[in-house]
Amino acid sequence: MSSVQTTLAAERVHAAGARLAVEAARFTGIGWMRGTSGNISEVVSREPLRLAVTASGLDKGELLPTDVAVVGARGEAVAVDGVEPLKPSAEAGLHARVAALTGADAVVHVHALNAVVAGHRWPGGVLLRDIETLKGIGRLAHDDEVTIPVIRNSQDMEELGDRFEAAHDPRTPAVIVADHGLYAWGRDLKHARHITECVEWLLSYALAIA
Ligand SMILES: [Zn+2]
Repeated sequence: MSSVQTTLAAERVHAAGARLAVEAARFTGIGWMRGTSGNISEVVSREPLRLAVTASGLDKGELLPTDVAVVGARGEAVAVDGVEPLKPSAEAGLHARVAALTGADAVVHVHALNAVVAGHRWPGGVLLRDIETLKGIGRLAHDDEVTIPVIRNSQDMEELGDRFEAAHDPRTPAVIVADHGLYAWGRDLKHARHITECVEWLLSYALAIA
């Protein structure tokens, strides 16, 4: 299903695409977007909800500003004049759910190994407390009990979105999808990058001291 979106400018989408390409290259360099895995999105319109998301099946270390797709609230492709209709990742549906529920304007999804290992070890959620880096995700360094939720994986984005909504704590800007990877979000791409980096560090730390 696709519909013509006339109010969204191609320039806006490609500007977002340029920013997504920079972030994706950075995460690829860290080793969190192996193969063609992972995807990053930025909200380019709230009403109606539209996200620019990295296109499916491409090496995330080599993206161009035009390697971007536009999706709506259910992750469906939306046609925009002047934007080549590339296939969005199937996971764009969860990006849209995260953006709608949390109000975040940027969402990062990576297959960071330590997130997957932590989700395997603690399927009920990863408990963190009394560690300075919690401040990096907007929580307290002391006496603050933080749980990074873990939800079961699904290829059905509707089902995965429902699991995310059920597990979501508005104070915690990340979720682990078991046997899959990590989603993290923020008010803009740089904020979402910092959240992703801090959450991954916290999960690595939890595993290291377990
Ligand atoms: Zn994935």
